[in-house]
Amino acid sequence: MNKCCCEHTGKALLLHNQAPLIDLHADTFSFKKDTSKFVDGWPKRHLDLPRMLEIGIWAEAFSLFVYPKWAAGEKAGWLSLAEHELDNIHTAIENSGGKMALAVDANEVLSNLDGGAVSAIIEIEGLHALGGDIAKIEKFFERGVRIFTLTWNNSNNWATSCMDDDAETRGLTLAGRDAVAEINRLGGLVDFSHSGERTFWDSIDIIERPPICTHSCCRAIKDSSRNLTDDQIAAIIERGGVIGINFFPGFLSKNKYSKVTAADIADHIEHILELGGEKNVGLGSDFDGISHLPVGIDDCTGIITITEELLARGHDDGTIMGILGRNFLRVF
Ligand SMILES: [Zn+2]
Ligand SMILES: [Zn+2]
Repeated sequence: MNKCCCEHTGKALLLHNQAPLIDLHADTFSFKKDTSKFVDGWPKRHLDLPRMLEIGIWAEAFSLFVYPKWAAGEKAGWLSLAEHELDNIHTAIENSGGKMALAVDANEVLSNLDGGAVSAIIEIEGLHALGGDIAKIEKFFERGVRIFTLTWNNSNNWATSCMDDDAETRGLTLAGRDAVAEINRLGGLVDFSHSGERTFWDSIDIIERPPICTHSCCRAIKDSSRNLTDDQIAAIIERGGVIGINFFPGFLSKNKYSKVTAADIADHIEHILELGGEKNVGLGSDFDGISHLPVGIDDCTGIITITEELLARGHDDGTIMGILGRNFLRVF
């Protein structure tokens, strides 16, 4: 657990209470784990319900993620694992004694909070889990999934991943256009984290809600195919979307992991601010999905060090509250 000893700690906690503090990506329920400890405390993980309450997180976007190599690539296997992870989130909500509730839009985040509950937002990370069956998009939507991450690090029959050698020339397939149309019809958000560049440009003007990247950083600072180019960031800003900055040291900096801190997260945030994205940047930790966190951030309570860093750099309360979650709440 993070111990805060910064002159800005009190002010940071106050902002967490005032701001909609929302994290756009955690894999706490991914990887087909036994998640029964989430409600009462799961110290081995980056995030659990007691620590969400402690640091004042209003909403966490939990992903459903299935490794492509699992189930020997059997589509039916992927699907049942994704459904199992979704069951686990709903079970945690049921077992939370009213402390956590599902949120499918911004109004529900606010009404849950009024009722004393933090919100679980659900996203599916990599549509390979649906095995190419468009009808499954509605099935997952009906069970609360509102964010659809087109790919993980593997391409699927709808879209090309950023890790694919052809990512600059091969994008959305014809079937992928139908899948995006179905997400539009239902009113879901399309998430471009992990998407290849061509997939991004093929999709950006056919999606109906603002574009989001739940857990991506800036390529201008760290050259990685997982990070966004300035042109992509500008396109997201122009369309009123939001980018959640990923906390993984390898996406944040060229330096050794042991030298990466909340200051590097603030650098990526400021890069988006410099491109005019005051209303378009947020937090996308990737808690429980990454092997390392920045120094000084041991778990979700370490979000406070980012708030402190932004305060120390002189950002005003309105800008910081936007970054902490108001920007995402606007599009959700
Ligand atoms: Zn993930
Ligand atoms: Zn991811």
